[in-house]
Amino acid sequence: MRKKSFRSRLAYILIAAVLLSTVFVTIQPFLPALRKETPPPPPPTVTVPQVAVPDFNADSAFLFIQKQVDFGPRVPNTAAHQKCAAWFTKEFKRHGFTVAEQAFKAVHYKGTTFNAVNIIAQYKPDMPKRILLAAHWDSRFQADKDEKNQNKPIDGADDGASGTAVLLEIARTLAAHPLDVGVDIVFFDVEDQGDDDGASETWCLGSQYWAANLHRPGYMPYTAVLLDMVGAKGAKFMKEGISMQVAPQTVDKIWNLAASLGYGTYFDPTERSGITDDHVFVVQRARIPMVDIISTPNEGDDPFGRHHHRHIDNINVIDKSTLKAVGQTMTAFVYQTYNGVL
Ligand SMILES: [Zn+2]
Repeated sequence: MRKKSFRSRLAYILIAAVLLSTVFVTIQPFLPALRKETPPPPPPTVTVPQVAVPDFNADSAFLFIQKQVDFGPRVPNTAAHQKCAAWFTKEFKRHGFTVAEQAFKAVHYKGTTFNAVNIIAQYKPDMPKRILLAAHWDSRFQADKDEKNQNKPIDGADDGASGTAVLLEIARTLAAHPLDVGVDIVFFDVEDQGDDDGASETWCLGSQYWAANLHRPGYMPYTAVLLDMVGAKGAKFMKEGISMQVAPQTVDKIWNLAASLGYGTYFDPTERSGITDDHVFVVQRARIPMVDIISTPNEGDDPFGRHHHRHIDNINVIDKSTLKAVGQTMTAFVYQTYNGVL
């Protein structure tokens, strides 16, 4: 075996060093060019799996109205009122919602103190993007527009039970056809015990309380819609003035959606002046732009229809076709908002 001399080893190292530096010098000018031609990595895309809009079941919504009417008039400080609140909570829990009963005292303009409760039901409470849907659930303590029995409370099948019934059915739909979006369904109490000849603040006591005591500090939903009187025969939903001031794009989305679903006869694109309803206080005090879908089929001083604050606001005034028009439109509104179509 022959030993390599130090000199020859040094020579090898020198030759290798020269070769390596040549290679480096030769390759180096091409490196920036190579880097430029490599396409940048694609930005991370968030793909939302599209969910088909389910059918809204108007028969089920009708039964939810019947159930509420069967409790009796839902006037605060009555057994019917208490039983109905408990039933709402049970229903929402059955559909997997997180429910809070927001109890409060409300002073009626006639002096009575009402034991009142807003029902706040949250679907997927941890989801940051949230849709707020609301309705009032109490029914009026007197039939002041009626010719007979003016001091007796009304059934409030349309004015009270219809909005909550549509939203309960949407809750049931969400449980059966899940979405990765938060939905808050709020039932306001003591909306309809106000003074027709008095200040607007005598109305909507539940939404006034909620707006000042939000169930989450700084709560601000992505979009917010109120339903009121959405179940009667011959209902007509016009673009309400305050909704148009604070959320005209949402109004247009809903009315266009309704037309595309074939409900243009119910959703009339004519604009109407503003109405004192829960959304007014939600807008003013919680700064949440809220749209009101409320039936105003008539012109003049009594726009809400013949049954308004009369005893004929009972189960016979309810029309499943109206429930379907509103319920299907609102179901599509929720699912298409999630899908990114709206
Ligand atoms: Zn009313």
